[in-house]
Amino acid sequence: MLLLKAAATVMKIFRNKCLGVGLSVNAFKGKRILIVEDSRFQAQITANILNKYGYMTEIALTGEEAVEKVSGSRCPDLILVDIELGKGMDGALAARTIQQFRDVPVVFLTAHTEKEIVEKIRTITGYGYVLKGAGEHVLVSTVEMALHLYEANAHANMYRQIFENSLNEIYIFHPETLKFIAVNRGARKNLGYTIEELSTMTPLDLEPELDSESFRALLEPLVGGMQEQILFNTVHRRKDGSLYPAEMHLQLFGHSGEKVCVALIIDLTERRKMEEELRARDATLGTIMGSARDAIIMLDGQGNVTFWNPAAEQLFGYSREEILGKDLHRLVVLDECLYQAYNKAFKHFQLTGEGNTIGKTTELKAKHKDGRELDVELSLSALRIRDAWHAVGIVRDISERKRLEEDNRRKEECLRLMLEGIPNPAWLINRERIILAQNKAAERIMGSKTGDYCWESIHGMETLPDRSREAIEKSGTPLPGTKCYFCRVDEALDKNAPINSEVEFAGGIWDTWWIPLGEDIYLHYAVDVTKYKKMEEQLYRLSNTDPLTNAYNRRYFMQVLEQEMERTGRTGLPFSIIMVDLDHFKSINDRFGHAAGDLVLKSLVDLINGRIRKIDCLARWGGEEFVILLPNTPVDKAAGLAEEIRGQLSKMNIPGVGSVTASFGVAGYCPSDTSDTLIMRADNMLYEAKAAGRNCVRYREECL
Ligand code: GH3
Ligand code: MG
Ligand code: MG
Repeated sequence: MLLLKAAATVMKIFRNKCLGVGLSVNAFKGKRILIVEDSRFQAQITANILNKYGYMTEIALTGEEAVEKVSGSRCPDLILVDIELGKGMDGALAARTIQQFRDVPVVFLTAHTEKEIVEKIRTITGYGYVLKGAGEHVLVSTVEMALHLYEANAHANMYRQIFENSLNEIYIFHPETLKFIAVNRGARKNLGYTIEELSTMTPLDLEPELDSESFRALLEPLVGGMQEQILFNTVHRRKDGSLYPAEMHLQLFGHSGEKVCVALIIDLTERRKMEEELRARDATLGTIMGSARDAIIMLDGQGNVTFWNPAAEQLFGYSREEILGKDLHRLVVLDECLYQAYNKAFKHFQLTGEGNTIGKTTELKAKHKDGRELDVELSLSALRIRDAWHAVGIVRDISERKRLEEDNRRKEECLRLMLEGIPNPAWLINRERIILAQNKAAERIMGSKTGDYCWESIHGMETLPDRSREAIEKSGTPLPGTKCYFCRVDEALDKNAPINSEVEFAGGIWDTWWIPLGEDIYLHYAVDVTKYKKMEEQLYRLSNTDPLTNAYNRRYFMQVLEQEMERTGRTGLPFSIIMVDLDHFKSINDRFGHAAGDLVLKSLVDLINGRIRKIDCLARWGGEEFVILLPNTPVDKAAGLAEEIRGQLSKMNIPGVGSVTASFGVAGYCPSDTSDTLIMRADNMLYEAKAAGRNCVRYREECL
């Protein structure tokens, strides 16, 4: 009795425990189960049991109803189906039909355990069967196992998908036989083998670098449990013989009670190519930096030097080794005050990547290692590397340029002083005829300005021939070949020799000079020579005229006569000369005195000059004898003129003398004439006039 009680208690405890466990571990609570059973009563009993364990149930009384329910919107999580369903579709057919369109676990209910029934069930589902009347625990645990199995299958399926579809190459092999167990699609594709081919292969067939011994040695730490993972670089060979670099991750996993080796392979071809490209780019950049003539410097976020090329070594005197990692500003900034300013600016840059000089080129002074001051030009840019602002500076030594600029400034100052030292207007003009500089005299007298186009400012357009002026107005520059004053600039520059010319402007005559000062600039200055020019003209006139009568002298007449004969030779135009001799002049002197005689001479000259043309030339031949040259005039016309003059003279009343007369000999030029023969003929005619009684004109028409 006591034993029974004890046994009952144990039984109770056991049952409760099982029930408790069953209920508490039911992870599938709430799952929906479709019970397909032709006996409504039997179906309800089964439903009740399942409901007790937390499942939700639904009943279909025929196979057709079951198919219809499953094809509805909510598919059950499991189907419990009776093999025999009376009339209509039997349970096996219903299960098959459903599985064609739904992936759902099916557990059979059967009253029979004959071999053919069990075999039939096996061909339809892998989720087993429950013997009718086997009891509630068998039913519930079978359902639970079926749901577990379904979930496990779903997981396995997912992992298989991941394995198969991974873009990485993965293969699984046996750590001892080394035979492949599985090779995923990525690996098959890259290697070029089919699953069949791989099924007889080992990883050694892909490893030209490893033999069986060395591969096993490699696996040793893994197999021996010393290491969880092995990572190494190797080379794989494809089916077509081509090789590719690969990174191999090896790991052991437990599978079906034994260990398998899983290899994850990463094809390094692309990475190697990128590394190679990066290396090449690095080398190119290194070469550029190394051969750059400008200093290239990089500072990290703290202002310390991280890059320093050979040109920087040259410019600042610090070697790479000396300066890398050092505070650049401490070394190259001229004084403490500036250093503080730079530091402040750099702090701002560290935070923002901004600064007044970023993205610009600035000129500044720096310090060489030996203390010497350098003029440099700095182009600065900002670079963000790993969350910190770095500064890249390109520094150019501009000391030489600065020196040249200073030299030029000094030269210009000298020129300016020199210009001012010249008392006459003076300009510095370039090839484009722009006034670069001028002195005060130039501004005062000529009104020119620096920067003016000197053609206009010095001479004015009015002085130019119309054609040139029009051309200039049109094009802004004088035409080539026009007689322009400033074109002489080019002449002077091309010959690289001073050129002198005389021009009239500002109401005077100026002696101007072009003096080249190098290739493109020349000094132009002008001296006012108006006064001297007038004197020169006067002297010239004096040397050619007779001081008493102001008529030209005999020497000048001979020059003009020679020119006229030469001109006639070219043009064929006739010309004539008239010889005039006062009659009985000696007795005029004698009667009225020498002064009265002089007055008669002057009166005759005035009379003739008043009558002849500008192109005619009256000269005193000697004593009281004159000669007139008449260009473009045939002898008869000249004789007519002589006759007129004779008539007027004879009628003239000269104060203190009264009237006087003169005799005229006229000769026309003949092609065979020399000056002597022509003058002689005129003289002969004059002689004839004297002989004929004076106060008359004599000439001969034709040439002899
Ligand atoms: P005929 O009619 O033949 O020409 O006679 P004539 O007196 O004019 O010629 P003759 O040659 O005999 O005299 C020329 C005179 O002219 C002589 C000379 O004193 C005078 N005579 C020459 N030059 C000058 C001068 O510059 N002034 C003055 N008052 N008389 C001059
Ligand atoms: Mg006379
Ligand atoms: Mg005479």
